[in-house]
Amino acid sequence: MSIRNYTLSLISFYLLCTGCNTTKTVEAPSLPAENIHAIAEKINSTPKNIILLIGDGMGMGQISAGTYANGNTSNLERFPIVGIQKPHSGAELITDSAASATAIACGVKTYNRAIGVGLDSLPVRSILEEAEMKGAATGLVATSTIVHATPASFIAHNKNRKKYEDIAEDFLNTEIDFFAGGGKKYFDRREKDDRDLLQELRAKGYTVSDYLTEFSELHMSLESADKFAYLTADDDPLPAYQGRDYLEPVSMAAVNFLSAKNKEAGFFLMIESSQIDWGGHANNSDYIISEFKEFNRVIGKVLDWAESDGETLVIVTADHETGGYTIQHGSTMDELITTFTSTHHTGDFVPLFAFGPGSKAFSGLYENTDIYHKMRKAFGWSELKK
Ligand code: MG
Ligand code: ZN
Repeated sequence: MSIRNYTLSLISFYLLCTGCNTTKTVEAPSLPAENIHAIAEKINSTPKNIILLIGDGMGMGQISAGTYANGNTSNLERFPIVGIQKPHSGAELITDSAASATAIACGVKTYNRAIGVGLDSLPVRSILEEAEMKGAATGLVATSTIVHATPASFIAHNKNRKKYEDIAEDFLNTEIDFFAGGGKKYFDRREKDDRDLLQELRAKGYTVSDYLTEFSELHMSLESADKFAYLTADDDPLPAYQGRDYLEPVSMAAVNFLSAKNKEAGFFLMIESSQIDWGGHANNSDYIISEFKEFNRVIGKVLDWAESDGETLVIVTADHETGGYTIQHGSTMDELITTFTSTHHTGDFVPLFAFGPGSKAFSGLYENTDIYHKMRKAFGWSELKK
């Protein structure tokens, strides 16, 4: 190429680019190269803390409907890493929340109804229990009872998920720093014995409070508490559409409480939006969407916090889909026509969203048990001996 031609082609290249720029309308600004490197480095690095958010029964239908009903946006769009996981249990194709939570919490496929035990009914250690052993702070927050299958699988060991009073006793066998959820009656008005587990927790050093005190009034006792338990209802907490509104403030209080412990080993916190599943069982689309919207707000707050913290891996996933919930032909963004194929759980794969240091390992398609192994690896814990 002659110099003249080279100059001409440079000029035409310049004009072409200028032309592009002037005709360009709206385009998202691209990140500077150093930011991309920083993000790439970050998603590969080791987190100090893990916050795992579980939407019970939250499949793609629930996420899609919840997003459309929320002005076609959700905080799930802020996650750089997306994966897909296979929720089937160890004995049944269609899992229940006990088997799937045990898979995520303990890394084993087990039978439906099993809480923190394997197919042989023997206890298996959960990631929360191991985090405690390693000196991390730990917490559980749910909008079901705290002894319900999902939170229970992180802290209890029982052959049968319905043994709520036995599961409540397991909270005394751990050093969990913060827990909040319903089911107070399984602690202090028990049918099987006269024990008052809330008094026993106080004797163990817990500050214990319940729904009779507004959570917003508890800041002082939270600040001075060494360990904290908050019972949000006697039995199941209300649905969000009937006025339950604690998930957001309590989840953020848990994050701040565990973070303020300032443990070298960090913290592990599981937050469950429990009732998306109940909306699915009830084949009630409005119930699903109202629960999703609340969960979405919690996810946003957690992400805001994790963004400024910079050392926290945030994971959002489901234990399974419930209801075979889909959006039908004829729907509009403002008016969704939805149908259900079931009042039970389905065998559909469910998505997983990951943000922050260590998140890269969560892309791909894998078994739900892999979530446990990926979390352990992210924490930098050594491989388990087979
Ligand atoms: Mg649940
Ligand atoms: Zn269910």
